Amino acid sequence: MITRRRFLASSIIAGLAGPVTNLVSAAGSTTPWRNWSGALVSNPASRLAPESEDELADMIKRTSGPIRPVGAGHSFAPLVPTDGSLLVLDRMSGVISHETESLQATLWAGTRISETGPLLDGLGQAMFNLPDIDRQTLAGAIATSTHGTGKRLKSMSGYVTGLRLLTLNGEWFDLDEGNNADLFHATQVSFGAFGVITRISFQNREPFRLRTQEWIDKTENVLERFDQALEEHEHFEILPVIPSDHCLVVANSETNDPLKAPVEEDDGGEYLSTLDATPIMLRRALINTLAGEIEPTEAVSESFNALTNLRFDRFNEMEYSVPVQSGPDCLREILAIIERESIDVVFPLEYRIVDGDDTWLGMFAGEPRISISVHRLASHDYRPLFDAIEPIFWKFNGRPHWGKVHNLGYDELKNLYPRFDDFIALQTSLDPGGRMLNDHLKYLLGR
Ligand SMILES: Cc1cc2nc3c(=O)[nH]c(=O)nc-3n(C[C@H](O)[C@H](O)[C@H](O)COP(=O)(O)OP(=O)(O)OC[C@H]3O[C@@H](n4cnc5c(N)ncnc54)[C@H](O)[C@@H]3O)c2cc1C
Repeated sequence: MITRRRFLASSIIAGLAGPVTNLVSAAGSTTPWRNWSGALVSNPASRLAPESEDELADMIKRTSGPIRPVGAGHSFAPLVPTDGSLLVLDRMSGVISHETESLQATLWAGTRISETGPLLDGLGQAMFNLPDIDRQTLAGAIATSTHGTGKRLKSMSGYVTGLRLLTLNGEWFDLDEGNNADLFHATQVSFGAFGVITRISFQNREPFRLRTQEWIDKTENVLERFDQALEEHEHFEILPVIPSDHCLVVANSETNDPLKAPVEEDDGGEYLSTLDATPIMLRRALINTLAGEIEPTEAVSESFNALTNLRFDRFNEMEYSVPVQSGPDCLREILAIIERESIDVVFPLEYRIVDGDDTWLGMFAGEPRISISVHRLASHDYRPLFDAIEPIFWKFNGRPHWGKVHNLGYDELKNLYPRFDDFIALQTSLDPGGRMLNDHLKYLLGR
């Protein structure tokens, strides 16, 4: 028997080879900055790491030229690269205040998601939902509407109840629903284009435990009973394994049961080397056969441990959200093109659902949507895969994840978000000189 994790890991390892590609760089100093995948590189002229809001304000006053805030560098899209000043809030981390009755908490923007779980747990609070990993900063995560999965669960930006923003002209804004609501909803997802966010307040809930169940099923079976599964499991997603008819199903449901550690994983070495050595034409049959041997697993953990994973294999990713009713057909078309064109990719896809929110530019602004991700190991050129698949997302009115690879600019984006031009007007008023914009952001906003 082989476990489902090993099943996926082996698919990934089967693809390891080749040079790192897609480097984006900007001229400047000699200490390069790189993102998590290694595909983005830039040479900032200076790095700023304030310890307090006063120090930040002083630094902003003394800095001229372009400036880009950076979180944990986990975005795949070139939101951060700059040859100006790179600003990091790593030293502004932790809980600032909390309210027991309303279950809200205000944290420093540089706090990592990984620190947030235990910190909030100690205060009798937990975040409603979390993404696949927890290395991101809170400011970085909400800047791109980072999300997990769940029919009744929003992106992290959707739970923001308040923000503190410093603009480059030295003006401070405390924003919430009752205080400059337009700027608040625009800033909830603003990829560092308005200024520097220093404090973020979240609506949380009481701490909870999740039973994590994982099993292999036929992708079509799961799509057919997807609605029912969403009712049964608060957090539900599938990872279609390519090329095959199967997917890994990951279902998290609330429970009061005692903690239960995940099962031990086997070595799976024989299976790994078999798949690795298998030509593309034969992989489908091999994976479909082996899928029948995967045993379901179950664990019980605190929510913040259950929802996030460790990812050791570096990759690049494209992700779009599409209207809920288009999700299954969009996924089918992606699977079909990979098969039809024999694209040599073995990394599973990811298919999730997220509820709508009030943000202006969130991927889920105004309505629930399905998100679909495509991954390519960092050692491979992602362009052939992403270029083949991106038009499928466009056909289904997809909105790109701001932090992941995509090729859309102002002309297309303005049609995907009703408030896109309003966002640009706000950005222009807060940053008339465009100092917060790099080339990528100028392309997005048409400035
Ligand atoms: C392995 C891996 C798994 C992932 N899983 C998921 C997932 O499950 N779901 C999902 O939605 N995404 C996922 N992502 C994408 C990731 O969550 C987003 O790209 C996120 O924005 C990265 O956060 P960061 O802290 O690394 O920010 P960065 O990538 O460093 O920056 C992101 C944006 O935030 C801005 N920013 C940072 N700090 C501030 C600040 N103080 N003020 C204003 N702006 C600021 C930056 O300027 C930039 O525009 C994943 C990424 C990786 C590498």
